[in-house]
Formats: sequence, structure tokens, C-alpha cells
Amino acid sequence: MVGNIDYVEGIINVEKHSNKGMLLTLLHEAVHAILFSAGLNNVDDDEHDEQLVQALAHGIFTLIKDNPKLIELIKQG
Ligand SMILES: [Zn+2]
Repeated sequence: MVGNIDYVEGIINVEKHSNKGMLLTLLHEAVHAILFSAGLNNVDDDEHDEQLVQALAHGIFTLIKDNPKLIELIKQG
């Protein structure tokens, strides 16, 4: 899975591959963006813990896929 995020332009780029792979890559980069906007970069290297980012991306994917009603309720606010 290959993707990147342009924090200046606010754009996530995802390399074309399988649909699930692209969605997981998009979520992975979105988690990076969320952590970045929250100021949660590592003190040592200004990066994010890739295992944490990957776990959250997969967790969010599964949460959304397994709970369509939850997503509808969230959309309704
Ligand atoms: Zn990453």
C-alpha cells in the first residue's frame, strides 16, 4: 500500500491498487492527518508510530464495514 499526504495542500494521494488496499491506504493517511492536526507527533523524530497508525486504519475500516447503522447515526449527528 502506497500513499502520502500533502499537509500544505491538504491532499491525500493513493497509488492505484485493489479497492480494499486503496481504502486502507486512505484511512492510514487520514489517521496521520488526524494525529498531525492534534499535534501528536513523536517528540524524538516528529513522526507517527506506524504500527499505531496501521492498527487504527484497520480498526476504523472494520468498524465502518461491520457497522453501517452506526455510520448512518453518525451522519445524522
Ligand atoms: Zn504511515
